[in-house]
Amino acid sequence: MSKPLSDHDRKKQISVRGLAGVENVADLKKNFNRHLHFTLVKDRNVSTKRDYYFALAHTVRDHLVGRWFRTQQSYYEKDPKRVYYLSLEFYMGRTLQNTMVNLALENACDEAVYQLGLDMEELQEMEEDAGLGNGGLGRLAACFLDSMASLGLAAYGYGIRYEFGIFNQKISSGWQVEEADDWLRYGNPWEKARPEYMHPVHFYGRTEHHPDGVKWVDTQVVLALPYDTPVPGYRNNIVNTMRLWSAKAPCEFSLKDFNVGGYIQAVLDRNLAENISRVLYPNDNFFEGKELRLKQEYFVVAATLQDIIRRFKASKFGSRDIVAIQLNDTHPALAIPELMRVLIDEEKLPWEKAWDICIKTCAYTNHTVLPEALERWPIDLFQTLLPRHLEIIYEINRRHLERVSSLYPGDVDRMRRMSLIEEGGQKRVNMAHLCIVGSHAVNGVARIHSDILKATVYVFKHTYRNTMLTRDLYIHSPENFMIFSMMSLSFEISPKLNRLETNDMWPISMASWVWNLKLVVSDDYVLLNSSQAAPGYHTAKMIIRLITAIGEVVNNDPVVGDRLKVIFLENYRVTLAEKAIPAADLSEQISTAGTEASGTGNMKFMLNGALTIGTMDGANVEMAEEAGEGNIFIFGMRVEDVEAMDAKGYNASEFYNRIPELKQAIDQIAGGFFSPKQPDLFKDIVNMLMHHDRFKVFADYEDYIKCQEKVSALYKKPKEWTKKVILNIAGSGKFSSDRTISQYAREIWGVEPTLEKLAAPDDPK
Ligand SMILES: *Cc1c(COP(=O)(O)O)cnc(C)c1O
Repeated sequence: MSKPLSDHDRKKQISVRGLAGVENVADLKKNFNRHLHFTLVKDRNVSTKRDYYFALAHTVRDHLVGRWFRTQQSYYEKDPKRVYYLSLEFYMGRTLQNTMVNLALENACDEAVYQLGLDMEELQEMEEDAGLGNGGLGRLAACFLDSMASLGLAAYGYGIRYEFGIFNQKISSGWQVEEADDWLRYGNPWEKARPEYMHPVHFYGRTEHHPDGVKWVDTQVVLALPYDTPVPGYRNNIVNTMRLWSAKAPCEFSLKDFNVGGYIQAVLDRNLAENISRVLYPNDNFFEGKELRLKQEYFVVAATLQDIIRRFKASKFGSRDIVAIQLNDTHPALAIPELMRVLIDEEKLPWEKAWDICIKTCAYTNHTVLPEALERWPIDLFQTLLPRHLEIIYEINRRHLERVSSLYPGDVDRMRRMSLIEEGGQKRVNMAHLCIVGSHAVNGVARIHSDILKATVYVFKHTYRNTMLTRDLYIHSPENFMIFSMMSLSFEISPKLNRLETNDMWPISMASWVWNLKLVVSDDYVLLNSSQAAPGYHTAKMIIRLITAIGEVVNNDPVVGDRLKVIFLENYRVTLAEKAIPAADLSEQISTAGTEASGTGNMKFMLNGALTIGTMDGANVEMAEEAGEGNIFIFGMRVEDVEAMDAKGYNASEFYNRIPELKQAIDQIAGGFFSPKQPDLFKDIVNMLMHHDRFKVFADYEDYIKCQEKVSALYKKPKEWTKKVILNIAGSGKFSSDRTISQYAREIWGVEPTLEKLAAPDDPK
């Protein structure tokens, strides 16, 4: 798959990329050999590919160190407003190539590796993905770190160093099987443990109310051990920090049990505390109210706030300006009551002053309107795990409802709707309401999503307008982001459009990577599917099984098997997305209008040369605007149509009985055409589609098929197709995460992005 380049190809590559500095190459080789010898403790007789990868990673990492020191030193001296991005997920993928590109070391490293007789691509394949995320929300956080560094913001990412990231998916007899993601097994060359900056985090216990304040006592302590990962900006010599916390039992942990279970048991029980950072919950857009997850959420928040406050107190200009804390969904929402607790119980500030600081500091990004994703923690769990925080939340709610009732006397229904505490059945804390009330800015992730949110959140805005708290509920308009390093492409292409021969563009989307899968692609249509099902999500797993079953039948069909392939790409993850997305010609973004907040794959495909077939949902709306409505295939119900259908009642059988091909497809699935050995295998899916499909997919079916016919007709005219591709790429500039972060900086955080560069330190010799 990846043989070393021929001399001819290598010269061609160098002449395209510009010659790497000769001295630099010599130093890189020298340092590579030094790391192989002294860091990996290997010589070339016994070195494996993985050793070579680690030697290269360390060689590249050396170039970050001086820049990292200088950046942090400059923040200490200039004391700019600090931005803290709090997230339970950072879906980083691999680091080596991104670091080489951002430091402009790629050509020199390619050359050094070549001269050492090694193959760069093979070494890169040895790097484990940092899969500390489920999907869009986590990848957004990773892109934001990159952009914050590239725009010179004094920013920090804070999260959890999960020992196990998102599971590895194997497909076995067509079924998804999950395997533990032991990504740290061989060590992580990009992180540095900082045991000297450990913080205690308290759980359980009870509160004592004294005349001089409240004490939270009899708690169990877990230590938060920070691991720092450098985040280089794009060629500006700035290196920011992502700090991830790992749970560590204190030395005296379980000492109380010493006499009961004995010393050995006490040491074994340290695992209980350290389980907090063991594993990422593999739920995307789904709330599973587990105690361990609530512990994770408090763990990251409590450790991070101690860091923020320590840094604030050490800052040169003191209270000149407060910091900005951005909450990536409600997962780190406990930052609000925790900041109140620290300011009131420890710093002895009065409530009003503390609340003012809290609101000015915090801002909240909402990621979905689907009710099953909203975090609503049972009060009992809170009472046991975080008794002081529950008291503070009750007090926030008391003051909040007092304001509501003074504005709307007697409007009991409104009080119930706006309360932070949900009554009726099991009492719960509504974390989204906590975030809305406790921050100065709320934003959605695409224009249509923000518009839908406004309807929900409007009541809150109205309550707080013209009040003593001078905060405005801010709904952010469009904001999207882009993954992968092609961000300047659209700006370069626009002026060149007239000169570009459309045929020049054709090869870039022609599945060179899919070819590596040993498919014969010429004249074929290849349907690529790749996705992970949450381990507990039955329907999602059955959908994967249905796709693999369809593949088994279609790919072996004597008539169609040579013209159409249905391929399920195992183990979707960042490195797979980076390869598969540029290989696609058509991107299907077909959520029922009003259900996808933004989507992010849609924008990645657009920038990477695919056309889109999609509904008017999420970022598709703005993509149509930017590319031009004639350059995207839009079909299906609009949000208003969906609402009208909800009012009238959706009846799947109506569509099933009226549309013969739909009936045939469903009958085939139901009758075992794709599962001859087990004809009723997909009965649950069919039952769901026919009787309780929240997404009403049959209602969009007819229009979808008509639209696909238009897609096929255009695909037969390569010049016209390619022209639309170019117009899409040219129109994708808005979806850069740099653009998004500039907007967050100005409109939410009150800081100005800079394009300033720091001076480069000397290269390692
Ligand atoms: C972008 C991305 C996602 C999210 O894609 P959506 O289209 O927003 O659902 C998930 N996983 C990976 C690996 C990604 O790169």
